[in-house]
Amino acid sequence: MVWSISLDRTWSRCQKQYFFQYKMASSTASDEQRNRAQFLKELMSPELWQGKLVHKVIETIILPAVKSRFWPNPEMVVSEAVALAERQFAFSLNKTYESVPKKEAKGDYCVLTPHFFGTSDDREIFDEVIDVVSNALRNLLISEQMRSFLMGRPQYRIEKTHYFKVGNTQVQAIPDLIMLNKLRGGFDIIDWKVATTSGHYDFQVGVYALSIKATDWLFEKAPGEIHGYVINLLESEPAIALADPYKVNDEVLSSIIDIAYEKIERIEALVKGRKWQELNIDDFMFARSIGTCALCNWKSMCVEMSNGSPAKFLPDSQPRPTQLTLPFD
Ligand code: SF4
Repeated sequence: MVWSISLDRTWSRCQKQYFFQYKMASSTASDEQRNRAQFLKELMSPELWQGKLVHKVIETIILPAVKSRFWPNPEMVVSEAVALAERQFAFSLNKTYESVPKKEAKGDYCVLTPHFFGTSDDREIFDEVIDVVSNALRNLLISEQMRSFLMGRPQYRIEKTHYFKVGNTQVQAIPDLIMLNKLRGGFDIIDWKVATTSGHYDFQVGVYALSIKATDWLFEKAPGEIHGYVINLLESEPAIALADPYKVNDEVLSSIIDIAYEKIERIEALVKGRKWQELNIDDFMFARSIGTCALCNWKSMCVEMSNGSPAKFLPDSQPRPTQLTLPFD
């Protein structure tokens, strides 16, 4: 198993969802049901889509400009974001995914849950998402404090994958951004959020910090204290987060390792050493909240594979049977 923060969140939400997303889903297996689980894994709710759009634009437009010591024009960035969103929305609405596989569609690939489940093809979804995305990008780009925080760093690592071990388990961490802080002699970790509610992200930041510390060639460049910043781009001044970073010292890192170890143990108890064919979905617990099921991409498969037994746990609105026919290449 390769453990990650997102895997752990899925596990905590619903163990069966973990089974579908991290064990069953496969685009390369010859088993059609596994391909189907993979297809469902790619579905996005409008809320997830808006977050992905913001991250994509920051990763591919804003940060490359910042690395080249150029602060991009907010309106130019917003219009690029709108153009990308238009292409993705049309791809989903027109069901282009039925004829164009993901590897060919590249950045335009998008399947939105309201389109796939047939609950809405309303343009309002697009307008609402664009509203949030534009606000988030403008908030970031018009902030003078964010500009001076991000510009002029000697090193940027944008969405790079890091691996390290906790016990015998491989851990994967993909921080949104890592920057070297020359003044302090340490690293700054940045996590972008597009969130209307606040949350606790100290464990997530701690895992990212562990990944820096475990990457010797990187950590040696600035072996001081690591600071983590969770920047909510829906704040009219996102730089508000800069005043109070998570400070990750050795003591914090030891407790993060202990917590991660416990979390990993709980999952390994069920899956360690067992191949896909040896796993049984009935061994994985249902979600505790039916609200989780209401938003679950694998709801139809969950009902089918559990011989109908979870129906009493699940909300009434199941996808129509015709929606169970999925496009596979
Ligand atoms: S439908 Fe509910 S119980 Fe089944 S996988 Fe989804 S969230 Fe879990």
